[in-house]
Amino acid sequence: MSELRLENVRKEFGSETAVSELSLTADGDLLVLVGPSGCGKSTTLRMIAGLEQPTDGKIFIDGEDVTRRSPSGRSIAMVFQNYALYRTMNVRKNIGYGLKHSSALSKSERIEKVEEIAEMFGISELLDREVSALSGGQKQRVALGRALVRDPDVFLLDEPLSSLDAKLRSQMRTELQRIQQELGVTTIYVTHDQKEAMTMSDRLAVMNDGELQQIGSPEATYVRPENRFVASFLGSPAMNFLDIDVERRNGHTRYLLDSHELVRVSDDTQAIDRPIQLGIRPEDLTLLDDPDDGATTGTVRHVEYQGNDSFVRLEVNGRIVTCVVPASVRPRQGDSVGLNFPPDQIHLFDMDAGDAIRSPSVDASDTRIETGPSTTEGNETDSRGANR
Ligand code: ATP
Repeated sequence: MSELRLENVRKEFGSETAVSELSLTADGDLLVLVGPSGCGKSTTLRMIAGLEQPTDGKIFIDGEDVTRRSPSGRSIAMVFQNYALYRTMNVRKNIGYGLKHSSALSKSERIEKVEEIAEMFGISELLDREVSALSGGQKQRVALGRALVRDPDVFLLDEPLSSLDAKLRSQMRTELQRIQQELGVTTIYVTHDQKEAMTMSDRLAVMNDGELQQIGSPEATYVRPENRFVASFLGSPAMNFLDIDVERRNGHTRYLLDSHELVRVSDDTQAIDRPIQLGIRPEDLTLLDDPDDGATTGTVRHVEYQGNDSFVRLEVNGRIVTCVVPASVRPRQGDSVGLNFPPDQIHLFDMDAGDAIRSPSVDASDTRIETGPSTTEGNETDSRGANR
């Protein structure tokens, strides 16, 4: 198990800053870098691999500064979306290729290692098959096996599953998680798919415009996003945002939409005297048959049946609000319904800066703040803070 540490890493391409003051640590866990296209994920991975030189900052593996080391001078394996296998070799030779040149193992030890890794990926029976005769999923397993057979200190994956169909992708995610845990290899996995990031990471690092926005367990990041970007990026359908007014009255704070009270909470002085946006996740809203029962009323504009549940788009005072309801609840277009905003599920954001100033009051035991051997949340939060 090796510790990877990035300290204030920055990468500029001409006048463009692709990655800005990035600091993070991973140690034997699976850290997923997630963010929209162009946010700097691949550049970060390429700097860790030594394929790009940082403009500034340092990269350490097990405390050793590898920032200026060539890719071959770092114990790193990388897998891309494109499997890049040797087409003229069979599976056994493909997997064993890395060992042939970089390992001090004997021939029999090399054979044993290749067989071990093939078994781990469930491709033992394919070892003597030509690569051209493999399916996409099998090829990807060979590519992953070839990378891991060398026991790298750090394993880097850049959207490795995106060319697979949805079912195979989901299966491979589970397999990768299992193998990563079994080997305990420090792994950085890049994806733009927030669902993939949420389902497979020990921790996720959300990036935007080259800056780290938040790092933590998927649960903590989803429940307590530290800013509006993270709140809107994670979750499908996305969080609802409403511009509200905040008023204090008789020891209570009232959140108002067009002068109409949506929620009342006990004193919340932070939200006073600044423009505020209220956020609520679609699954946290409560839809009521009787429009008179809710804190506010909405008109059903669209119902998207999903099988397990339905996404209902409501018009509330001229805004579209999405809520998720069980599939058994089937409101019809044009229906008038009631809507409740549970006070303990409300997020509030500073309208201008986007910072979260209130998050749902979920029991801390429900959210893994940190997992695995890496316990540097404090450092990471500091580094994030310095970025903004
Ligand atoms: P995607 O998910 O689309 O791959 P990404 O988050 O991985 O995106 P990067 O590929 O890291 O993003 O790119 C970050 C920014 O740096 C982008 O604006 C990109 O245009 C720019 N960039 C990346 N590589 C280079 C390069 N070699 N020369 C110039 N600009 C580059």
